[in-house]
Amino acid sequence: MPVADYKTYCRMLDRARANRFAYPAINVTSLTTANAVLKGLAESRSDGIIQVSTGGGAFASGSSVKDMALGAISIAEHVHRVADSYSIYVALHTDHCQADKLDKFVLPLVAETERRRASGLPNLFNSHMFDGSALPLKENLDIAVTLLERFENSELILEIETGVVGGEEDGIKAEASAKLYTTTEDTLEVARRLNLIKGARYLLAATFGNVHGVYKPGHVRLNPSILKECQDAVVKAYGEKARFDLVFHGGSGSSYEEIRESISYGVVKMNIDTDTQYAFTRPIAGHMFTHYDGVLKIEGEMGEKKAYDPRTYLAMAETAMAERVKRAVTELRGEGTTMYKGQEGR
Ligand SMILES: [Zn+2]
Repeated sequence: MPVADYKTYCRMLDRARANRFAYPAINVTSLTTANAVLKGLAESRSDGIIQVSTGGGAFASGSSVKDMALGAISIAEHVHRVADSYSIYVALHTDHCQADKLDKFVLPLVAETERRRASGLPNLFNSHMFDGSALPLKENLDIAVTLLERFENSELILEIETGVVGGEEDGIKAEASAKLYTTTEDTLEVARRLNLIKGARYLLAATFGNVHGVYKPGHVRLNPSILKECQDAVVKAYGEKARFDLVFHGGSGSSYEEIRESISYGVVKMNIDTDTQYAFTRPIAGHMFTHYDGVLKIEGEMGEKKAYDPRTYLAMAETAMAERVKRAVTELRGEGTTMYKGQEGR
């Protein structure tokens, strides 16, 4: 059953933190992109995380339906079915969901998992992000506490965010005045509120200058040492058990050094979207340019069926995206670390 169950997912996260590696969490919006992630992870012999955003879910449900939860369910069910064919574990996660979208995205997905559990089926998703970073911290954590109490009953993991990720993703743009660097005070408050919920587990996206998207060098100033300050403070206040499982948002375009440094401070999950989007599209662009007289019907000609069959270029896109996933695994030190069938590499 290579979609990880709760225990397996927890062990994945624990091993990553103990052995200083991290899982790529790749956004997907279709069967082909989900297959690309599975291919890349399997070829790297690494477990990993497939995630769906609100926009990705809406897209996957079809342009006349545009139901973000329904599309996310479709992708997750596809992954549950095909993951059995790969020798790795994959966890399913949903990305940024702002407070005003909870009713349309995360809550119906949690209800779906609750229904599945009631009839003896495994959870649909392993974890969901609630992004309350645009709210005052108290409101952010009030909602997070309510969610985490419900999640705990169904072995779901919650991801929350303090500080704001800059840039733009899924049409959501950070305010220019946004707080791009989280503070130790904020993260101490996270631990104080969320650690009261016994048996629950959460991931924390503590921002350190991260942005969504890729920008020319010099535009992004990451300061991973903020993560170390947050960890030191929380361990001092609440003990080693309170050390955070951290998430690195906006991993696309980051340098090897920045990635390694953040892993050393407890990052166990790094989100990648923009770089894998580009990797997917690049061979399609190449195909269209080199076979323009095959994909187009020019001057009364008929084009070439083989050239315009979408499978021709989508298969190239799948392979190229899988290669980018493999590169992410290498940068995150995850090669050969799968726990599937005791193939533990370390
Ligand atoms: Zn993000």
